[in-house]
Amino acid sequence: MKNNICRVCSQPSLSIVMSVPNVPRNIQRLFSFDDLHLDRAINLEVLGCSRCGFVQIEPLLEDEYYDDYLMTTTHSRQMQQYQARQARDFVQRFGLVGKSVKEIGCGDGSYLDHLRDAGAVVSGLEPSMRFRELAVGRGYEVESGYVDAQRQLEGGPYDGFVTRQVLEHVPDIHGFLTGIRLNLKPGAVGLIEVPSLEKALIDRRFYDFFPDHVNYFSLRSLRLALEMNGFDVVDLHHDMLGEYNVALVTVADSPSFDRVATTVSTLGKELREIIAQYRSQGKKVAMWGAGGKGLSVMAAAGIQDLDLLVDGDPHKQGLFTPVSHLKVEAPSILANGDFAAVVITAMAYRNEIELTLRDEYKFLGDIFVLGHHLELSQPQKPI
Ligand SMILES: [Zn+2]
Repeated sequence: MKNNICRVCSQPSLSIVMSVPNVPRNIQRLFSFDDLHLDRAINLEVLGCSRCGFVQIEPLLEDEYYDDYLMTTTHSRQMQQYQARQARDFVQRFGLVGKSVKEIGCGDGSYLDHLRDAGAVVSGLEPSMRFRELAVGRGYEVESGYVDAQRQLEGGPYDGFVTRQVLEHVPDIHGFLTGIRLNLKPGAVGLIEVPSLEKALIDRRFYDFFPDHVNYFSLRSLRLALEMNGFDVVDLHHDMLGEYNVALVTVADSPSFDRVATTVSTLGKELREIIAQYRSQGKKVAMWGAGGKGLSVMAAAGIQDLDLLVDGDPHKQGLFTPVSHLKVEAPSILANGDFAAVVITAMAYRNEIELTLRDEYKFLGDIFVLGHHLELSQPQKPI
């Protein structure tokens, strides 16, 4: 083992889980009689990650291996029926009729036929020149080379992508998936198909492990790799008699903080204004909550002219808040009838606090709670 870094979780957590002796170095090409002396069998070490469970082997192939690759399934009727159904389901499920779909590793273009027949507007990418010529011969636009984390693909961004029987060959899983996502529209969808690790294990297939396949995905590790690269997995299943693992994905929305960031100033302003309003009428205002939320709100709002800050936690009572420097008192003070309003910032305890105020302390003033705005709470029950 040259290095023990897991290709999915990037931790040095690999160990040899199986050795397969006498494996063909290259399963794609058969030899002419004269070339037989070039043949070298290898001892294949299958590596498993103790952290995330991913299974991989070290890349043994030459860099140009796929430039001249030819593996076709066009001749099999069973495969053609399976692919036609899969492409049709994919296009229909995600409303891809008339939408752009890129196939990464489109081979001879036979799957592009299925996608096009289902109504998608298709194009491909294919590193193998022999394959590319076949696909172009079918009338498709096919660009050459490989996907990496930077590459801008022709005709993108796309509404959808398909990559079948490709990811198991790719040494840089994250670069490949990130690169695909870079070329997608927001809300785009995808289909990823790989050989099933589960099937290899269940059927005890040592012969499923060979140098072409550097990655061996279970449904679980496939999901993990996809999610790590910004995809939401909306469907994940075994297909084709259990031979393949198939994931359907959408581009995950990145969380938007714009409105949260605006609230820092708007909520603080409202809080200051309401406190000022009561106080200008000679009325007193209290806040309930000296936990994380309360302290953050007070600090962000710059509140220092509050009449009272209370918290139910006896450990906090008698101490002073950071930034706003207010003393924390016991809530029972609110039973004295001096206060016109209470702002509740301890939102998780909101109902309990309101009940305490209304029932136990017979509090008759206004109760505000935090939302995107400061909200006047409706009484939970008649007072
Ligand atoms: Zn791992």
